[in-house]
Amino acid sequence: MDPSLLVLASTALGAVAGAGVAVAILGMRRAGRRRAAELRPELEEVATTILDEIDMFAVVLDSSLTPVYANPIARQERHISDDDIRDPDFLLRVRRVMTTGVPDTHEPDPTDPSDTVRIHIVRIQRRFAVILAEDLGEEQRVNAMRRDFIANVSHELKTPIAAIGLLSEAVQQAADEPAVVLDFAKSLVKESRRLGELSRDIIQLSEAQSALRPEDRESVSLRNLVRSEVESHREFAVQHGIELVVTDESDQDRDAVILGRPASLGAAVANLLSNAIRHSPDGGRVGVGMTIRRRSFIVTVTDQGAGIAPEHQSRIFERFYRVDGARTRGDGGTGLGLSIARHTMRAHGGDVDVWSQPGVGSSFTLAFPLHDPEGSAKSSKRAKKARRSTRGSAETAPAPEPAP
Ligand code: ADP
Repeated sequence: MDPSLLVLASTALGAVAGAGVAVAILGMRRAGRRRAAELRPELEEVATTILDEIDMFAVVLDSSLTPVYANPIARQERHISDDDIRDPDFLLRVRRVMTTGVPDTHEPDPTDPSDTVRIHIVRIQRRFAVILAEDLGEEQRVNAMRRDFIANVSHELKTPIAAIGLLSEAVQQAADEPAVVLDFAKSLVKESRRLGELSRDIIQLSEAQSALRPEDRESVSLRNLVRSEVESHREFAVQHGIELVVTDESDQDRDAVILGRPASLGAAVANLLSNAIRHSPDGGRVGVGMTIRRRSFIVTVTDQGAGIAPEHQSRIFERFYRVDGARTRGDGGTGLGLSIARHTMRAHGGDVDVWSQPGVGSSFTLAFPLHDPEGSAKSSKRAKKARRSTRGSAETAPAPEPAP
């Protein structure tokens, strides 16, 4: 890419050029919109009216490359520094557009994270050039994340699918040897279970990432939810030689109810329980605590496992992140459990957090915001009262002044 554009694109929306332009734009920021008309009355008002409304950075330069107008987004843009905009090469491009009338466009390079700004230079009314710029950084980031996710999913699916194919062929070939067939069949069950868990988690993750719609909001008793998940994990804990201990210190006089997706909320608790059991030493103890802190119901799942080193603690909530990828992949984990938990909790207005110390153990905390029907009834009464009083005063008050 043209080095001049690279400089410009590297600064979010720092896309306007010209010696002295900085001063002029800063001046316009202070002077506001009226200044455009004062500077160049021949710039048609219709043009500035349109540019005022568009959702991107727009600056108009006249034939001497002096800025005569900056739209509200350009006026608010704080990333422009004098260094960014004194770029002779960029000015040359503007001048070329001005003389030839041929628009110039710079598209960001999707593989270069520092190149995120799309720039259009267009001539208008023969004597002016409009510079339009928009930062596509967020869009590029989302696309990159999507690409990574698809690559990860295909990679994760490939292994069990290939294993199932090979094992099925092996079973056919060993048809006369029942012991060998039995062995292969066990591996087949293991691989197909892994495939099943992976597809279940991918579905749960996509559900957890989708916004909570009003029709998704069922009333869920958090105490029952936690107890039922604990019961579902008892057998699993016994298989691992783990004791599951539940303590409920929450104020029993208070209802612990949340409005949300019961299956997703259950999956968040289940993932923490399953992790704690899987990462605990034989004969260990997993504690599940419940308490209410202000307006949140807090569930803590604590284990006496190996713990998680500080450098991994912030990353374990990422999709497919495993502290020890190779070892834990065959261990029953899909690498999505904590990501599902975090997305679910955030979609419900809560969050999940971790405390861990290598050699001591880990403690994961879920904070559920409590639904307070009394509080919401009171606040809706307050809102109704406020609406009534504003309606009353609106009926008697004079008509509002038109916006300036
Ligand atoms: P997985 O399905 O692999 O368990 P998670 O998203 O649930 O995926 O967890 C991500 C990683 O965090 C795990 O692979 C593991 O390395 C680590 N981890 C999660 N919970 C614990 C725990 N209780 N103790 C130690 N490490 C844990």
